[in-house]
Order: sequence, then C-alpha cells, then structure tokens
Amino acid sequence: MTGFAVAFISMLTISHAEPYSAPFGTPKVLKFFGGAKAAISLQFDDAMTTQLANAIPRLNERKLRATFFVNTENGQYVSHRKEWEVDVVRARHDLGNHTAHHSGAKNEAELTKEIEDCSYDLGRIYGKGPRLASFAIPGGCPWKVTDAQLESVLHKNNLVLASNRNFFDEKKIDPTSFVQRAILTGSWSNVSMHGIGGEWLSTSIPVFTKLLDYLVANRDKVWVAPDIDIYKYCQERDALQPIHLHALSDSKFEISTSCDSTKLAFGPQLYDQALTVEVKVPNSWTRFEVSRPGRLADSYSVLTTPEGRVARFSIRPGTGAFTVGKISVG
Ligand SMILES: [Zn+2]
Repeated sequence: MTGFAVAFISMLTISHAEPYSAPFGTPKVLKFFGGAKAAISLQFDDAMTTQLANAIPRLNERKLRATFFVNTENGQYVSHRKEWEVDVVRARHDLGNHTAHHSGAKNEAELTKEIEDCSYDLGRIYGKGPRLASFAIPGGCPWKVTDAQLESVLHKNNLVLASNRNFFDEKKIDPTSFVQRAILTGSWSNVSMHGIGGEWLSTSIPVFTKLLDYLVANRDKVWVAPDIDIYKYCQERDALQPIHLHALSDSKFEISTSCDSTKLAFGPQLYDQALTVEVKVPNSWTRFEVSRPGRLADSYSVLTTPEGRVARFSIRPGTGAFTVGKISVG
C-alpha cells in the first residue's frame, strides 16, 4: 500500500471514530471548582451558640459557605432549632451529621441509633429523598465501635466520613497555615473549629476574622465550600469518562460529560456537583454562553491563559448535552 493510501485510510478511520472537534481544543476537567488550585472546607462542631452569633454572620458577609456538624437532639441545637434549620440552611451552609446526642457509641446498636436519628432529623430539613451528607465522629465520649461497623452504618445512610481534620490551638498555630499548605500542595484540606469567640476549644474572633479574610484574599486560588460539595467534586472528577465535544461551527460546540458510576462510592444519582471544564477556543471569541434546552443560558468572558484563549464553565455530569456558543460583540 502506498503512503498516500495509508494516510487516506487513517483519515477516514479518524473521522469515523472521533466526533468533529476542530477548531476547539481537547476539553479538560479542572482539579477543583472554578479552576482553584486548592479546596478548603471550614468545619464547625457541636452546634454551638457562638457559631450562630459570631461565625455565621461573618461567613455570610463574605459569601463563604461552611459545614456545621450538628447534634440534632442536644439542648443547644434544640433551643436554636429555627436558626439552624431555617437561617443557616437558607444561607446555603451545610448541616452535617455529628450524631443525635454527642454521647458516643458503646456498641453497634447505639452507633446505628445515634447516626440514624441525626440523619432522620437532617432528612426532615432537606427533604426530597436521599442525599449525600458529611459525618464527623464526636470526640470526648465513649467510641467503642470498629472502623468496619462505622463504615457500614455510614454507607447505609449515605454519609461520608470527614477525616484528617485540622483542629488547632490558636496560641500555637495560625489557622491560615492550613490554607497556605493546601495552596502549596494543590490539595483539599479543612480548618475545623468549635466555639468562635467563646464556649469551648474556642477560636478568638480576631483570629477567625483573619482566617476568613485570608480566604477571601485568595479567592481565585482556593475553593471554599462545604465538605460534601468538595467530596462530590473529587469523586466525579476522578470517575469522569472521556468528555464528548462536537463542533457545530467555528462559533459553537456541543459538550456532554458523564461519570463511570462503578467508580462512584454511592449511587450516581446522589452526585449533583457541577465540574469545571476548560476548552481552548479561537482568538476571535471574547464572550460565550452555555445553554441547555429549557434553561436560561449563562454567559462568561473568555480567559487568556498561557495556552491561549479558553472558555471555562461548569456543568453537571450525566445531564445531557450543553451548547457553548460565542457571543457576537457589537
Ligand atoms: Zn463534637
């Protein structure tokens, strides 16, 4: 066979196997939402009153969302039920499971009851069927169950264990150091706290405010989100199948993403976190919109990166094809 014939046949083969993608680059999913280098989850335990009084308003002012590990049948929570279940949830913070009473678990039956009672209460708040939530082991109380027993109860209740938690003594360590390390290593980390400006194992308000302001100053580098959102992002990202991109013209393409559900630890329907995708686009693009049938389009500016001009946007895997189109300016 001549070289020409080989080349011709390979071109035919490629055009059949690959959807048409020119003039766009190969789409890639970014490590963290929005293209951040690192992810941080702010975590607060025990549903303390000083968290409601001192942490929530400061988080809300800065549009930072956090995880609150609550004990839904403890006095402190019960006496502020409305604030936790309405105000905190409405501000889009996440309530995580910290057992119903913070009284520990001396055997498997107690473990199951403590976790399921708290899950039941959280289900009443969030409604609408099963959802993934975070779980944190209560400290300072008897905990006499095996890792296997815990894992089994957590899995059955769609709970993800918060691990490697960074509690700190502010006299010894500045909590921004956890954020700096996450940026340096490009990883997902946490800053875990109890009282804010009072109560037990407290972080003072100046140190807490410094931490939040540091996160705001580094907003382009750090994705601050509830623990469970970051968990879902990482799982979906790692289970992502090759992204399908099909060019409709020089100014429009279709894109769809999906996950290999065997690589997701819980049922695929529980993963609803959008992943951030980047696609190289022609130099003539300055703004673009992302749309899906029956939905309002979102519009964005094209970014200039060392690799050229890119469209960066976030879409949920397994939700069908999105159309990405250049917006004509002027
Ligand atoms: Zn606790």
